[in-house]
Amino acid sequence: MSIAENLKSIKEKTAKFPAKLVAVSKTKPAETIKEVYELGHKIFGENKVQELVDKYETLPKDIEWHMIGHLQRNKVKYIAPFVHLIHSVDSLRLLQAINKEGEKNQRVILCLLQIHIAEEETKFGLSEEELHELLSSEDFKNMQFVRIKGLMGMATNTDNEVQIRKEFKSLKTLFEKIKQQYRDSKVEMEELSMGMSGDFEIALEEGSTLIRVGSSIFGSREYH
Ligand SMILES: *Cc1c(COP(=O)(O)O)cnc(C)c1O
Repeated sequence: MSIAENLKSIKEKTAKFPAKLVAVSKTKPAETIKEVYELGHKIFGENKVQELVDKYETLPKDIEWHMIGHLQRNKVKYIAPFVHLIHSVDSLRLLQAINKEGEKNQRVILCLLQIHIAEEETKFGLSEEELHELLSSEDFKNMQFVRIKGLMGMATNTDNEVQIRKEFKSLKTLFEKIKQQYRDSKVEMEELSMGMSGDFEIALEEGSTLIRVGSSIFGSREYH
């Protein structure tokens, strides 16, 4: 299928849910993104700072850019002027760096806190305990240039749907709990970023509001 057909099919599957599609364009050239943009899609996700900046500079300025990959503190400055949402905040120190760059740019930067829900040890993310620690810390309370818009998580890379569903359910439960517990101008729990090419249909059923889909739209990625 063509990219246009892939996009249409995913949008059809998403239409009956209150969720938005982040088209994950990592490794794909700007021309390919332009093609999708011209079909009317304007939300794209990248996982590398340099690539995100390059694409931001070349492509139309009304694109909403989402940073979905692991972010190093010393690279926040490059994306702070324009990034729409950072999905992958996994430490207080990173959030402090984002707050600092937000202040320099005089803009409040929207963030999701990434939660570790998978069985794999290697995936990034906060535990539930670390999440509470962060949200109740004085440091966080003093940050004026960040806003927490929700949570993000990645399920275990497995064919076991029962396992994936269980992990998404646990993230949704945590999301609702945080929403009740932290009523603060800096915590606005609205977005639950979960679901990729292999599992976005399960994620939609479990309450995702942002699915991050790459290969099912653009085809498989080639790494050089
Ligand atoms: C690459 C990536 C995706 C998209 O993966 P696909 O399986 O190609 O849909 C989603 N989320 C994150 C964090 C990614 O790095």
